[in-house]
Amino acid sequence: MRAKLITFLVLSLLLAVVPLRAQSSIEVVTTTTQVTDLTRVLVGDLLGDEIRLTPMMGAGVDPHLYAPTESDVAAMSRADAVFYSGLFLEGRMGELFDALGERDVVTYAVAQPVKDAGFTIGGFRLSEEFSDVDDPHFWFDPRNWELAAIGLADELASLDPANSATYTENAEAYVVQLVLLYEWMQEAMNQVPEDKRVLITSHDAFQYFGDAVGWEVRGLQGISTESEAGVGDIEDLARFIVEREIPVVFVESSVPPNAIRAVQEAVRAAGGNVEVGARELFSDAMGSEGEFGATYIGMLATNVITIVESFGYEVPPFPEPLGTLPEDLL
Ligand SMILES: [Zn+2]
Repeated sequence: MRAKLITFLVLSLLLAVVPLRAQSSIEVVTTTTQVTDLTRVLVGDLLGDEIRLTPMMGAGVDPHLYAPTESDVAAMSRADAVFYSGLFLEGRMGELFDALGERDVVTYAVAQPVKDAGFTIGGFRLSEEFSDVDDPHFWFDPRNWELAAIGLADELASLDPANSATYTENAEAYVVQLVLLYEWMQEAMNQVPEDKRVLITSHDAFQYFGDAVGWEVRGLQGISTESEAGVGDIEDLARFIVEREIPVVFVESSVPPNAIRAVQEAVRAAGGNVEVGARELFSDAMGSEGEFGATYIGMLATNVITIVESFGYEVPPFPEPLGTLPEDLL
């Protein structure tokens, strides 16, 4: 009921807003922190004069539950284009994207090329209505993010043909970085012995990450944070941790830590012990503006270092072209 009411209010507001488009620059709204970062990378020096960017979600925001504010809706209806993650990640914005499309605002899901290439992981149950959906956390495999970068560069080029060469060049340079990141990630995660390669987190955001590095992944909640973990889920996971002698579990920055703490308690009650990771993992949201974890590359690097070090191993040197690690990660 509540969700319906919000949708109704949002749609009425959307229809009431008079479009005020800037004459010279292209107005783009982006939803998640990952999509914002990718857009910034591809736009590069064109940001500001040619492309004006309005990011919607900030650090620590859960996109599954995010309902757009009035000013978000106003910004989207004024925009030339809205770039979103897709695969139902922005679970409360589907109707809004449809309505924007009808108003000639270009809406583009960054996940689309990954879906088209057949690289999404399917078969998840989200609700009664959506019983067979794709896992939306596709960005955690850098190979998927390469496709996303190339796809978004094409989309930008069709919005702004005069600068198409810039978008293509920026995408190509970024793909080179992502390839380096992927190689480093694999090498780092391989430091942990094979029988211990299980990543346990609050919600199922890391299936693609697991695929990318060959780790088993277990999430306490499903692929959306909308479903809560029950007592049975907590006990099952605790039993698994004790049996496999998994030393560490992880809290995510955009999900409250209570459920993972409950798992830790249940493991202790079963006579085992499990630590909570040295830092929270970034899952659906990245770090705050200016932090190392505020970019896609920084976010993945921070996660990899957090995981490997929490298991008690050292990561290989960080590739120079990807930047310098901050003090607190060294
Ligand atoms: Zn998620």
